[in-house]
Amino acid sequence: MTKLINGKEFADKLCDKLASEVLSLHSQGVEPCIAVILVGDDPASHVYVKNKIRRCEQVHIRSLEFRFEDTISEQALLEKIEDLNGDSKVHGILVQLPLPEHINDSAIIAAISPAKDVDGFHKESAGALMLGQDGFVPCTPLGSLMLLGDVLPTLSGLHAVIVGRSNIVGKPMASLLLAKNCTVTIAHSRTQNLPDVCKQADILVAAVGKPELIRGGWVKPGAVVIDVGINRVMVNDAPKLKGDVCFDEVKDIASAITPVPGGVGPMTIACLMYNTVEAARKQAG
Ligand code: NDP
Repeated sequence: MTKLINGKEFADKLCDKLASEVLSLHSQGVEPCIAVILVGDDPASHVYVKNKIRRCEQVHIRSLEFRFEDTISEQALLEKIEDLNGDSKVHGILVQLPLPEHINDSAIIAAISPAKDVDGFHKESAGALMLGQDGFVPCTPLGSLMLLGDVLPTLSGLHAVIVGRSNIVGKPMASLLLAKNCTVTIAHSRTQNLPDVCKQADILVAAVGKPELIRGGWVKPGAVVIDVGINRVMVNDAPKLKGDVCFDEVKDIASAITPVPGGVGPMTIACLMYNTVEAARKQAG
């Protein structure tokens, strides 16, 4: 029978564990703290930031929220990050993306101290992951890996196909699975015969941003399917979230699958908490 991978439940358990670790850090005089920077009024970004701050409260992590109009200059934003880099009470810095067009995302991410890069987007973090060295891992692939580890006794030797090659999901996911001794294929928009490529996967990770792209016939019976996609679609005039995988077609073919919502999404925020606690612990020595 297909196992429904409950990311919400896993994330709640991880956050309970982190909450007690944070209380123990408090007793040693360390108060883990994350600074969240939000620019402009993109409704989805506001929801993401609200959810992150709410989780911080549950885990007893102190959160500082800095909101700016979308007219803020790149220079002013860089100066804010410089201030936060130098503030020893702040352990993690998160800049909610996307930023307005006149601001260069890469320059902003590069300005964050790698020691406080809890999103794991800095090139130093990306390089460390690629080289198998210590550093922050982006939250969505880290959460996806934790879910995989929960359903599979070992990942070694399995063929993982990742659809999507973004810097924040696809590429870091590939590095993580390679480090677990999977044979890794990365597919993207120019991949030929995508259904055949997907059908070879023991582990199929979909991180595309196209609702229900992956069909039942693309999935090998018994494969484990991780659906990272979050797509807002209208169903009978009502807004609904859909993954990149056609859940109804795949659910009886895969051995385990993450639902959308309630799969990878909650793990992304839980792993942000995880990285922030790690950052505080490391900075406290
Ligand atoms: P990007 O848009 O940055 O990357 C999408 C990738 O999918 C690209 O590599 C692109 O290929 C590939 N792609 C696009 N169309 C096709 C196609 N028809 N066939 C094969 N590959 C294709 O997206 P992200 O990685 O940022 O996000 C992917 C999805 O995951 C989105 O739905 C996003 O909302 C969701 N997401 C969910 C998170 C969570 O917490 N659960 C966190 C982050 C993202 P190419 O490189 O050739 O253009």
